[in-house]
Amino acid sequence: MVLLILVSAEVAELVDARDSKSRGGNTVSVRLRPSAPELGDFMNSQDCIFCKIINKEISAKIIKENNTVIVIEDIFPKAPVHYLVIPKKHIVNLSTITSLDKELVWHMIEIIKELANDLPDPKAFNTLSNNGKEAGQSVFHMHWHFISGRNIVEGEF
Ligand code: 5GP
Ligand code: ZN
Repeated sequence: MVLLILVSAEVAELVDARDSKSRGGNTVSVRLRPSAPELGDFMNSQDCIFCKIINKEISAKIIKENNTVIVIEDIFPKAPVHYLVIPKKHIVNLSTITSLDKELVWHMIEIIKELANDLPDPKAFNTLSNNGKEAGQSVFHMHWHFISGRNIVEGEF
């Protein structure tokens, strides 16, 4: 008998697989331990705050918007200019981006350059993407913080 078990590697990890034939039987026993992914790995577009903003279910101050990207003002700005550049596609973070999204990433950079051009000093800005909860990511829909008017390298951010 052939036993086919398909388990997503992201959901569980194989901890023990024994073929009991070696002990005289003819069954295969498999033990699985659920892995411990980050909370955000489970967050899909239904319970994502940025998807709700994109779908206009939650309001936000929109700075710029087109078919693929939305730029909003951060609800708790930490600098005189503090925007969030968000792809409309629900991508968890930079770690999960693939080359399939390279046009989207380039487009986000183009948007960042446009935002910079509207600053009093177009060369003075920071971009930051917190990746993973250990690095401070709190919304698990990839975004770049666009910050200007405050030195976040020397100050606390
Ligand atoms: P992260 O912590 O993931 O790097 O950044 C998430 C950012 O989203 C935070 O700076 C937080 O203030 C902002 N934020 C969280 N919820 C909302 C919201 O409902 N509206 C807006 N405009 N910003 C939000
Ligand atoms: Zn989302």
